[in-house]
Amino acid sequence: MKDMSEIVIDLPARRGTAIALREGQTIRIVNIHGSQVLDCWAFNRDDPFCCMSMEHTRSYNSRIVPRVGDILVDNRYKPMFEIVADTSPGVHDTLMCSCSAGIYERMGHPGHDNCEDNLHRALAEVEISIGFTPSPFNIFMNYPFSADGEITREPPVSKPGDHVDWKCLISEALVIISCCPQDLTPINGISMAPQGARCFIINQ
Ligand SMILES: [Zn+2]
Repeated sequence: MKDMSEIVIDLPARRGTAIALREGQTIRIVNIHGSQVLDCWAFNRDDPFCCMSMEHTRSYNSRIVPRVGDILVDNRYKPMFEIVADTSPGVHDTLMCSCSAGIYERMGHPGHDNCEDNLHRALAEVEISIGFTPSPFNIFMNYPFSADGEITREPPVSKPGDHVDWKCLISEALVIISCCPQDLTPINGISMAPQGARCFIINQ
């Protein structure tokens, strides 16, 4: 008989959360408010310097934004997750760094909450320290680019309840999700009010 149990994890607004996954489990990442961007990273719990890599993932799938059926790979070109569902229009970003202290300093808001600090705080809570910040998978972030390479910043096109599902392909993974605290531009929606999100871990 199949085990279809679920674990629910609420992701607080403006903060990062570490979530452990085992091979075969699926993480469902739900945009409960509809327009919240989620910066996501993933690490191999056996070796945190082995992490999900956007540049390797773009190469592996020959696509800038991965879609259902594509594989998220690590910085050694090994599969970590398969994208098994995406109920949103599929608009996400793999090109941009997370927001950081430096970005908000440049905008005239030093000390602002930021996804980079959220990542490292969430890792510290599970006693992991790395001296670098991998490129995030910015789920639901809408930064379209033109044929001449110009990038613009737009509100998300996702709707409340949209979700993406990743199936874990490695024995022990650690996923970090930061509910982006950007409230100075409409990247988290035109209300510019960062929200929380929700995850489900599904055993199948
Ligand atoms: Zn952010």
